[in-house]
Amino acid sequence: MERSKFGSPTEVKFCKNCVESNQRFVSSVQHKMVEGEKKDTALFDEDGICLSCKYFERKEKFDWNLKEKELKDILDQHRSQDGSYDVVVPGSGGKDSIWVSIILKEKYNMHPITVTWAPGIYTDVGKKNYNSWIDYGFDNFLFTPNKKIHGLLTRLAFLNLLHPFQPFVLGQNSLASRFAHSKKIKLIVYGDGMAEKFIGKINKDDLKDKKDHKIMKHHYAEDDEKIFLGGVSVDEICDRHKLNKSDFNAFLPIKKSEMNEANLKILHITDFLNYNPQENYYFAKEKTGFEVNPDGRSEGTYTKYQSLDDKLDGLHYYTWFIKSGRGRATEDAALEVRNKIITRKEAISLVKKYDGEFPKKYFNDWLIHMNITEKQFYEKIDEYRLPHLWEKNKGQWKLKHAVWHEEN
Ligand SMILES: [Zn+2]
Repeated sequence: MERSKFGSPTEVKFCKNCVESNQRFVSSVQHKMVEGEKKDTALFDEDGICLSCKYFERKEKFDWNLKEKELKDILDQHRSQDGSYDVVVPGSGGKDSIWVSIILKEKYNMHPITVTWAPGIYTDVGKKNYNSWIDYGFDNFLFTPNKKIHGLLTRLAFLNLLHPFQPFVLGQNSLASRFAHSKKIKLIVYGDGMAEKFIGKINKDDLKDKKDHKIMKHHYAEDDEKIFLGGVSVDEICDRHKLNKSDFNAFLPIKKSEMNEANLKILHITDFLNYNPQENYYFAKEKTGFEVNPDGRSEGTYTKYQSLDDKLDGLHYYTWFIKSGRGRATEDAALEVRNKIITRKEAISLVKKYDGEFPKKYFNDWLIHMNITEKQFYEKIDEYRLPHLWEKNKGQWKLKHAVWHEEN
């Protein structure tokens, strides 16, 4: 198969069941990412169905009682008798972290401490949802990284990788493990659906590990591993910017030896309980008064309840759209088709209407945060348009392939 310089197949295909594209990148290990590396992309079976849809097919036949029992067994092994914290729940007060923290506490009698890596730039609604989550009745550890370092890493990640959301992902991945390790808590439970995104090679490898509920390689680094942030080695950033290695501590993954010493178990709740994004939204609304995007929907998509707390969210999905020709509406619609919330036909028209819409609302905030000019921004964006995905027509960039072209 012919592949582009980023490793994506040059023949564009869309899943016949949902609307996912074979150009979708599959989560890479963030602290290894370097400029120009080849990425893994979504895998399809011989019938043209993406592996994520195949997972949903299998999921329908899961014995959820058995899976819940597995979860209960793990929780039983970890539950503290004296009321001290026994599980770390990472999150921001979005619908999924609300759901998992509440059921762990109320249904399974655990003693969670919630842990939050602050968004790069808070939105008002995100801050409000975060506060209501804590007000509901949780202890919370909020970590806010040094803004100068965060801004610098966002800039590097944008310029070198067109991946401005990387600092958040790095922090999100490392904070919970570091916190658990320091407090000697042995269990971390995430509320989001990793398994639902098991659509590429890397994730399939993870699945093998996860059978034993072992740690995943996204969450730690080998002890002597060279770490890259924003595509540049930490030593080089320090040299170039006259900074100390310790300035980046919060963004570095936990070491494998520390991880082993902590004997940490990291779970995704969706491996044990049947998850539905819409039901979680109603749950969160009822329990903590979770609020949706006040604009009615988020830019670049039709949904109003996913990824709301960071002003950089829209930028993240937009840069992803540029690199892969599929954006935030595709991400949301594919998940909703798999969860039978919308049909494929509806998904196609939603993708046609909203995918790739430029999220202009916080454009200035991004430029200031990354310390780049508007001109630099657009030059970088255009540099990442792959020729098998994009063409310029009368001065306008157009996608060569879109799922809604099927309609014609
Ligand atoms: Zn699919």
